[in-house]
Amino acid sequence: MRWSQTLIPTLKEPPADAEIVSHQLLLRAGLCRKLTGGLYTFCPLGLRVLRKVEQIVREEMNRAGALEVLMPALQPPEIWQRSGRYETARDVLYKAKDRSNKEWVLSPTAEEVITTLAASEINSYRQLPLNFYQISVKFRDEIRPRFGLMRAKEFIMKDAYSFDMSDEAAMASYRKMYDAYTRIFARCGLQAFPVEADTGVIGGNYSHEFMVPAETGENEVVYCESGKYAANIEKATSRGPLVPIPTVSTGPAPEKFATPGVVTIDALSQAPYGVPAAAQVKTLIFIADGKPVIVLVRGDDQLNEAKLAGKLGATAFRAAVPEEIVAAMGAKPGSLGAVTSTRKDTAIRVFADEQLRSARGMTTGANEDGFHLRHVDVDRDIRVDVWADLRTVRVDELAIETGLPMKIRRAIEVGHVFKLGTKYSEKLESSFLDVDGQRKPTVMGCYGIGITRTLQAVIEQCHDKDGIVWPMSVAPYQVLLTPLGAAGSATMQLGEELYRQLSEAGIDVLLDDRDERPGFKFKDADLVGIPLRVSVGEKSLAKGEVELKPRGGALQAIRKEEAVAQVIAHVREALKKLS
Ligand code: ATP
Ligand code: MG
Repeated sequence: MRWSQTLIPTLKEPPADAEIVSHQLLLRAGLCRKLTGGLYTFCPLGLRVLRKVEQIVREEMNRAGALEVLMPALQPPEIWQRSGRYETARDVLYKAKDRSNKEWVLSPTAEEVITTLAASEINSYRQLPLNFYQISVKFRDEIRPRFGLMRAKEFIMKDAYSFDMSDEAAMASYRKMYDAYTRIFARCGLQAFPVEADTGVIGGNYSHEFMVPAETGENEVVYCESGKYAANIEKATSRGPLVPIPTVSTGPAPEKFATPGVVTIDALSQAPYGVPAAAQVKTLIFIADGKPVIVLVRGDDQLNEAKLAGKLGATAFRAAVPEEIVAAMGAKPGSLGAVTSTRKDTAIRVFADEQLRSARGMTTGANEDGFHLRHVDVDRDIRVDVWADLRTVRVDELAIETGLPMKIRRAIEVGHVFKLGTKYSEKLESSFLDVDGQRKPTVMGCYGIGITRTLQAVIEQCHDKDGIVWPMSVAPYQVLLTPLGAAGSATMQLGEELYRQLSEAGIDVLLDDRDERPGFKFKDADLVGIPLRVSVGEKSLAKGEVELKPRGGALQAIRKEEAVAQVIAHVREALKKLS
């Protein structure tokens, strides 16, 4: 391809709304353009990278025995109602209406459609296992689309769905996908690692996310340096907080004391009260499927909403607003407590974090503005309906398995594998006749990779101050040819000759035939990040040389005579080193 004949709209400066480096480079290198928030057009160069990522994914899916299909993005809401996700996923579902006012769903994933296919086409154990995948556009009504392709409203995902006869067989399918993912990200030049994950709205009981470490990532990963444990913070567990909880009773019954104006854990820990945060109970009110629930964690702990969601089993939940809190508890936030004798409505269910089980001599709100209670023994004074692990792990806490202190780092989720079990196959009636003549639900798994997010994650990981440094496997072109003279000059003529030879040899080459100054061309070359630059400048040509330069690597001069005769061998050798 000739640069002058394609569209590579590079930019000197990043657009003001591009916050993270990969988003800036995506736009500056002319790979994409924003249509509006969360919607992007791929320009020719960006599309070449996208196709390469897709091809790697496709090859590895095929190698793992998955079958490529293509499902409609426009889906009837009835199947979403049957799976229950019409409600549980309602926040992310885009809906459209047709001329007769009938509603349609724009697919965020395709469990419902594939299970409908399985219900009609899979009938016997002889057909199993089966794994279907597609690479297609997905839609999600994200609250905060941002960071370019990282969190878009419309994006490209590879989604795969496996169907098996038993849990054991489903585990083998899961393992195959897990291994395929490891290969895919490595082939894309990414350092990605698997972590244990929460299953969220998709449901199911076992899951891993593939994470790319990055300061700008929207996830936090808790990990043990032994390599034996890594989990998304939404799911992570530890041996518990580093500051122990008080377990000695300080009085025979809770005692009310005045705390005028004190409405935070922090204020109560200061003079004149001096109650350590670890000796306080934090009381939070949520509304789950329209009903209030009380949630308790230790004063110095953070509630983990993903863990709470898993325990509530509600279709929808959210933090209560002040009016709802007053209605449920009789007091404003800051003075709330769950001590049974002080509760207005004892029918409200109480969920408490495991750490509080043996807590004694605690302080909590009195359900009366401006008052707290001390000498609270949780086991004696608070009726807990559900005990669960509800806290967020903190740095340096010890890993359960190894007993070693854990670290926390930020990361980008590029892929996610789930063991689904029979949740969808039961609701959408995908079953098969087993060897024993019994009809059983198929056991499913589902597996997603954000293709467009992966593309941007590569940029986030592979760049320097001058621009992108593409791994060869996903680079838009292998070679950038940069003749530095004007049209008709000796350098341009040699450039044209090399272009012809490289193209004929089947090498992906971009010829920068623009009538621009050398400094300008080199800046663009660094920005766009093609792995090997071959430049023909007047000075070096006078010395009888052309130059080879790997992006981010050192210059190498080769004799012009040699270059023309052996350019392909030279380039091939350089490309091999870069691959
Ligand atoms: P996130 O937690 O980032 O919102 P998710 O867990 O909801 O993602 P999945 O349902 O697991 O996403 O989707 C599979 C993959 O699709 C993700 O691992 C991610 O790479 C990609 N993906 C999800 N949402 C988006 C989005 N809004 N924009 C781009 N890629 C996305
Ligand atoms: Mg996910």
